[in-house]
Amino acid sequence: MTALADILIRRITATGPITIADYMAECLLHPQHGYYSTRDPFGSGGDFTTAPEISQMYGELIGLALAQSWMDNGAPRRFTLAELGPGRGTLMADMLRATRTVPGFIDAADIHLVEASNALRQLQRRALAGYDVTWLDSVAGLPYAPLFVVANEFFDALPIRQFTRDRDGWRECQIGASAHRLSFGLSSPAPIAALDHRLGDTRPGDVVEIRPAGAPIIIELAGRIAAHGGAAIFADYGDWRSLGDTLQAVKGHQSEDPLDHPGQADLTAHVDFEALAEAAAGLEITELVPQGVVLERLGITPRAQVLAASLKGEALKSHIAAHRRLTHRDEMGTLFKMIAFHHPGSPPPPGFVP
Ligand code: SAH
Repeated sequence: MTALADILIRRITATGPITIADYMAECLLHPQHGYYSTRDPFGSGGDFTTAPEISQMYGELIGLALAQSWMDNGAPRRFTLAELGPGRGTLMADMLRATRTVPGFIDAADIHLVEASNALRQLQRRALAGYDVTWLDSVAGLPYAPLFVVANEFFDALPIRQFTRDRDGWRECQIGASAHRLSFGLSSPAPIAALDHRLGDTRPGDVVEIRPAGAPIIIELAGRIAAHGGAAIFADYGDWRSLGDTLQAVKGHQSEDPLDHPGQADLTAHVDFEALAEAAAGLEITELVPQGVVLERLGITPRAQVLAASLKGEALKSHIAAHRRLTHRDEMGTLFKMIAFHHPGSPPPPGFVP
């Protein structure tokens, strides 16, 4: 049993079952035993990999899209360039390298990273050596200034609550403990105001998820963008509306039961983009599009050809595989979706359509 399983079982025995959101928060961010607090989970030696870790092209294209958006917002002389959940810092490093060619952009940027894990902050510090970076625990600390922000696979790591539709309301999935083991159970049915809008498109037995921390984050970002200008680009797996049990645990590139190794497996759930869009008062929301489509619109293929020209052998093979992995419909190309939120006075960032 992991140390965290022991702590959770004692807690549940003392005070009763916990929600999936409580469980995810402890598993991912417990200061001593949390998944992100204790390790670097990325890459082939880790548990999973992400788009920015697959190829530098991802960060380059997103960086240039945000730089174009900065110009479309009148190229403010001081602005916040932010990333939520930056992992190893690779995406921000690639964005900054690519945007060196955009006159004035980096000089005007005030770089902020919102990161909960101290272990990952160390890696980000290394990846961004030479840049002046401010780390924040929460988006609430972002300056009141024009804001250009990106988040890749950040929202999927935020805790969810999960409900099963019943004739008389919703039963919440809870985690209990018996005989020194964690187990899933369901609460008694109750009405849930946050799910009233789902009564029309669900039937008894259907499962839906909500992410309580999602909307408050968007409200903070949207307040700054609506008042001062800016844009946000989000990429994650998920869809416009959540339906079904999407809680997933991954350890060593294999999926496993989310209760098997608390604190030692990554836990995620699909992102319900509609819930994020609804919280973005005062902003324009683009269409939700597959990642592969956005990357093609941003010119990933010509960029891949330029990079390929200086590669040979294994390096060339892995570059071609990375391009395919990011864009192909059988790989990350359609599973991952992208959306942009932007100030109504400016066009959407390149790659996105209203
Ligand atoms: N964007 C990176 C990493 C994705 S993993 C990439 O694509 O490679 C999720 C990231 O979000 C990690 O950096 C994790 O530590 C961070 N994170 C998770 N929950 C968070 C929270 N509540 N507040 C801030 N950062 C969080």
